[in-house]
Amino acid sequence: MGVLAPKPRMRVITIANQKGGVGKTTTAINLATALSAVGRRVLLIDLDPQGNASTGLGIDKQERETSSYDVLRESASIAEAAMPTAVPNLSIIPSTLDLLGLEMEIAGATGRAYRLRDALHFHTEDGAQFDFVLVDCPPSLNLLTINAMAAADSILVPLQCEFFALEGLSQLLQTVEQVRDTLNPTLDLHGIVLTMFDGRNNLAAQVVNDVRQVMGDQVYDTVIPRNVRVSEAPSFGKPAILYDMKCSGSQAYIRLASEVIQRERRLEVA
Ligand code: ADP
Ligand code: MG
Repeated sequence: MGVLAPKPRMRVITIANQKGGVGKTTTAINLATALSAVGRRVLLIDLDPQGNASTGLGIDKQERETSSYDVLRESASIAEAAMPTAVPNLSIIPSTLDLLGLEMEIAGATGRAYRLRDALHFHTEDGAQFDFVLVDCPPSLNLLTINAMAAADSILVPLQCEFFALEGLSQLLQTVEQVRDTLNPTLDLHGIVLTMFDGRNNLAAQVVNDVRQVMGDQVYDTVIPRNVRVSEAPSFGKPAILYDMKCSGSQAYIRLASEVIQRERRLEVA
């Protein structure tokens, strides 16, 4: 690469699905960790009032002095709210239960859907210190998720391998379409990742086939298996990839990260 090669710009990927328990937070934590392990500078923004991504990365409640709530109410910048984690190259903006009140607080404010986008724009003007920003969304299509979609270059959708997987997807894709029409015309669907796959379950294999048939190459090749090590890791405040790098779940997230990087390259030359 020549000295004049343009610096790749910061990419914002929002991890969304209005269903709870489909693997959003697990994907956010482990994808962020895998990307940082290959030298990318990553910021994870926790936009779920439950704060599972913050807890899962070992950030105690007392440590959350500035949070995503402060960023969205415009009382802290991205740089002020970002804090380091135990994972090298990975920072987090944690969340607190204060976020529950945000929607009411800013209901009448103009530009309320652009609070996160504006904060990130302001941040990149100083010269981006992050290669990737991942945003972990709450399980609903509320103003927090809309902020995350309005701020994103692309959306990554975790889908649990279960019977109703496709049902919620059409509603989610409709919302993405609406955001594209109104708030963010360049929003892309980065891809769909199938999670919690259980190879002993015939139905799970059927769901994988169905989703691939409907969504084609928008589905990542990597399927995340159901793996007990992955579900244990958050109680130790660690990403699965640090807790047990060799387990099947961690290995799958490492493969997912390399697919994400490949897709980014394709988007960049496109
Ligand atoms: P969401 O953020 O969409 O609500 P989570 O990532 O919190 O979903 O996952 C829901 C639950 O499933 C959590 O208890 C999590 O530990 C567990 N889980 C997620 N992915 C896996 C996996 N691959 N194997 C086993 N358990 C998983
Ligand atoms: Mg979650």
